[in-house]
Amino acid sequence: MKLDRTVIDELVVHSGEHAALNGRSTVATTVDWLGTAGKKPKEVAEEDLRAFVDELTSSQELLWARGTYALLVVLQAMDAAGKDGTIKHVMSGVNPQGCQVVAFRQPSAEELGHDFLWRCSKLLPERGRIGIFNRSYYEDVLVVRVHPELLASGDASSGKRPLEHVWSHRFEDINAFEHHLHRSGTRIVKIFLHVSKDEQKKRFLQRLDDPKKLWKFSVADLAERRHWDEYQAAYEEALSATSTSWAPWYVVPADHKYVLRALVGGIMVDAIDRMQLRPPKADPDESQARSRARTELLAE
Ligand code: ATP
Ligand code: MG
Repeated sequence: MKLDRTVIDELVVHSGEHAALNGRSTVATTVDWLGTAGKKPKEVAEEDLRAFVDELTSSQELLWARGTYALLVVLQAMDAAGKDGTIKHVMSGVNPQGCQVVAFRQPSAEELGHDFLWRCSKLLPERGRIGIFNRSYYEDVLVVRVHPELLASGDASSGKRPLEHVWSHRFEDINAFEHHLHRSGTRIVKIFLHVSKDEQKKRFLQRLDDPKKLWKFSVADLAERRHWDEYQAAYEEALSATSTSWAPWYVVPADHKYVLRALVGGIMVDAIDRMQLRPPKADPDESQARSRARTELLAE
């Protein structure tokens, strides 16, 4: 089961294209992939997600068996857009040995003592595995751009140059870093969960009103919400500057979790599908050894 190419094409920010977030829906795609007659869109999306999860399970096995490529999925979003739930649902069928999820929070003093790519590059997936970055080095051109006081005080890139140059240089560095990874066999997909400000408010209120969800709410999230427009502008610039043929951004409507999860599943299946992996062939030179092994086992 594959997501229709026209849907994927609509989600991707093409290289050189302005991401124009205001013109991108937070609710649905314009391509009606959920319009199966007689079924509710939610039902169709949930069925599709199950199919994508099955597909991911087998394609991850193939990824592991071939051992030539890694898949890196970068997830970025405003708070409460659904990163955690998406990871949980989309990765539910994947063998835990074949994948790793890393969440990046405020950097430690040691991490701030290094260049901004350092902490992430240590945690990249090895060939054969899927790595999910829940937040990433993109925070260094997002939250740090909205709050420039977070720039490490010892960072040579701050202070000496106008701040505008810091961001454009970081975009260049990110593009070069990702190009290097691509050439070394890491396929990269970057997904921005595009949630509306109204939907975020609704989800914050749900968290506040439900004792079981209260732990998910942090007062700091509300403080960041006050910078909503600055974040949207920072995202828009980052997505426009770093969507490349080797590491494209996908803008996924996130106001309906069932739409979001199915689309993310479909994007990941597509990314592995494009590797055109075939199961490894048994070595013909070892066929005699294999038949001896069979004889020995049967004789036990
Ligand atoms: P959730 O709230 O769903 O548990 P989260 O990803 O928001 O998940 P938090 O621990 O709430 O996790 O927040 C992590 C915080 O760390 C975010 O506010 C993020 O902007 C911040 N952060 C991540 N990377 C950096 C960075 N390089 N510099 C400064 N802040 C960062
Ligand atoms: Mg948070």
